[in-house]
Amino acid sequence: MGSMHTGLEDRARDYPRLAAYFAERAEGGVGLMVTGGMAPNWRGWLAPFASSMVSRRQLGRHRLVTDAVHQGGSKIAMQILHAGRYGYHPFTVSSSGIKSPITPFKPRALSAAGVERHIGSFVRATRLAREAGYDGVEVMGSEGYFINQFTTQHVNRRTDEWGGSPEKRFRIAEEIVARCREAAGPDFIIIYRLSMLDLLPDGNQWEEVIAQAKAIEAAGASIINTGIGWHEARIPTIATMVPRAAFTWVTRRLMGQVSVPLITSNRINTPQVAEEVLARGDADMVSMARPLLADAEFVNKAAAGQPERINTCIACNQACLDHTFKNKTASCLVNPRACHETKLNYEPATISRSVAVVGAGPAGLACASVAAGRGHRVVLFEQSADTGGQFNMARRIPGKQEFNETLRYFNGELSRNGVETRLGRRATVDDLKNFDEVVLATGVKPRVPAIPGVDHRSVLGYVDVLAGHAPVGERVAIVGAGGIGFDMVEFLSHRKDQQDPSQSAEAFANEWGIDRSLVARGGVEGVSASPAAPGREIWLLQRSEGKPGAGLGKTTGWVHRLNLKRHGIKSLSGVGYVRIDDAGLHIEQDGKVQVLEVDNVVICAGQLENRELAAELESNGITAHLIGGANIAGELDAKRAIREGCELAARL
Ligand code: FAD
Ligand code: NAP
Ligand code: SF4
Repeated sequence: MGSMHTGLEDRARDYPRLAAYFAERAEGGVGLMVTGGMAPNWRGWLAPFASSMVSRRQLGRHRLVTDAVHQGGSKIAMQILHAGRYGYHPFTVSSSGIKSPITPFKPRALSAAGVERHIGSFVRATRLAREAGYDGVEVMGSEGYFINQFTTQHVNRRTDEWGGSPEKRFRIAEEIVARCREAAGPDFIIIYRLSMLDLLPDGNQWEEVIAQAKAIEAAGASIINTGIGWHEARIPTIATMVPRAAFTWVTRRLMGQVSVPLITSNRINTPQVAEEVLARGDADMVSMARPLLADAEFVNKAAAGQPERINTCIACNQACLDHTFKNKTASCLVNPRACHETKLNYEPATISRSVAVVGAGPAGLACASVAAGRGHRVVLFEQSADTGGQFNMARRIPGKQEFNETLRYFNGELSRNGVETRLGRRATVDDLKNFDEVVLATGVKPRVPAIPGVDHRSVLGYVDVLAGHAPVGERVAIVGAGGIGFDMVEFLSHRKDQQDPSQSAEAFANEWGIDRSLVARGGVEGVSASPAAPGREIWLLQRSEGKPGAGLGKTTGWVHRLNLKRHGIKSLSGVGYVRIDDAGLHIEQDGKVQVLEVDNVVICAGQLENRELAAELESNGITAHLIGGANIAGELDAKRAIREGCELAARL
């Protein structure tokens, strides 16, 4: 299980929760797990007072974690992460005083004596980790953090013994590994996370990567893990549009160059994919991180030959990385128990009740399956022919095919837990009056904005377009630049005759300008990206000022906004909608009126609660629980819908 910062590492009081989180994964069959990053000194903090391993006073809390993991039958390594110039505080240090494009603080360049002191901090953290019961450490040498800031010329402009030639740039990594090995002894695991593909034009050449791997092995590393891309690189490496196992070919190129085992990672989210990676010989070991947030039992289910029972990570980042970057405790969109193991539990029900759940979108699916799993007798009503609600639209967006897995998982849970599912059935008051509990998960209906001419034949709703009911012309204006507006851009710009880059590592590399021959420096220098030409001329519009997509996820929004530029989509902010007629969409911007001569106007202007049934029930004296979109449509997403479904089911 790869390292993930959950936010629980940062405060002593959260370590019992952190221990419970790791314990479930240990019992779930994980062989070796790595903690979130611990700074070796305060200058290496990710953020003020963030997780660290600097003093014996911290050992007690860490022992809670190591004891819990060992009781669960697993091993655990502590990651030592010095953030360098990626630290979000004014005390950062680095190889050179060059500010990163993704943080506001300019680091101080370390003196040679300072470098020595920092190496000493890594050694101290290793000693303390051993004392705290960890089976090893992972030295974070990739993703653009402190060590990586020395190993490439992208940041390292030094002319002393820690910069210049590749050997001098790599020296800090070698010294850290060698001295940590000396301090920890021969029977301690030292994983080194090596940046194998920097994805920066002035990143390392492949020969330099091999040389660094050999030096690290010689210095005493037990295992080398794969790191792909710096955080500041503008190429997605783990988001949902990245194909599964899209980067294991990089690790394969290093196989045979060193004799220690190599771990590969990035977008490996099912046992089948992991097995294929190993069978191809891409690596000796596979690391998964987010998939173990999504399902703590992943390994046991795979080992039992029941992969269909796994709740699969859909790589959305919405509840894990997006939370971490907002200083919120991480969790998982498809599994709200993740990192909340001591707070959200699905105990067997003391009395089995009859429960009606209306609506089989994410909220209703989660609620019905958890309630039935606890022993309630659950009937699930869904008016359409399939379960899934709006996920049936989301999964049609190129790059969002993973959403199918969530439907597969919850549909399986319905039948495994004995939910009686009535499809094609719009629930009525009569259907619901004899249940002990009624849950309304009836979702939302699209908002129809009050634009004159909104009933013109050229106007389409997003539902019509995504369900494939409505042909769409060559020139399209999209009203609304929220999550669905951006997804509509992906859907309409994708040409049927072009391969979807999210489905092939090769097509993805071409789309984003990654050199699979590994000749280019950093894997990208001088390589042109060839984004597929969009099939249509598209305008994306919003009334508010500012950049479109400002409300999208922190770790994925930039990809969507970059894609607008790459695909030549015209986005306009601060727009007033004047009218729609045969000439097209008339808009006003900065006092000027213009006509967008489009064939179709697609409305993606948000949603309203679908509460018709709630009102009918109320007038018949039936009290219902409201969850998901039926509860509050504003700022609804699947994360909230599933969490509300699970939380209610845990209380029923
Ligand atoms: P819904 O999904 O709307 O489900 C409600 C269900 O109730 C429907 O199946 C409906 O048919 C049924 N129903 C209604 N009335 C009755 C009745 N009387 N009887 C029986 N059945 C009834 N969210 C994210 O978090 N991340 C994303 O990346 C994302 N992408 C999206 C992409 C698209 C294209 C779309 C359209 C949505 C996306 N969403 C995304 C939003 C997400 O899908 C919704 O937030 C989520 O589906 C809301 O869940 P829900 O269960 O509350 O409602
Ligand atoms: P949304 O994100 O709230 O966006 C609605 C858009 O419609 C906004 O751009 C808004 O911009 C515009 N709008 C609102 N009222 C309008 C009106 N009366 N007239 C014209 N325009 C209006 O909603 P959504 O796009 O429907 O998405 C629904 C939910 O699904 C969201 O919570 C979203 O997070 C989630 N989702 C998430 C993702 C993801 O990738 N994470 C993808 C899809 C959906 P202006 O007011 O500025 O015009
Ligand atoms: Fe995976 Fe999304 Fe869950 Fe993160 S929130 S672990 S990306 S499914």
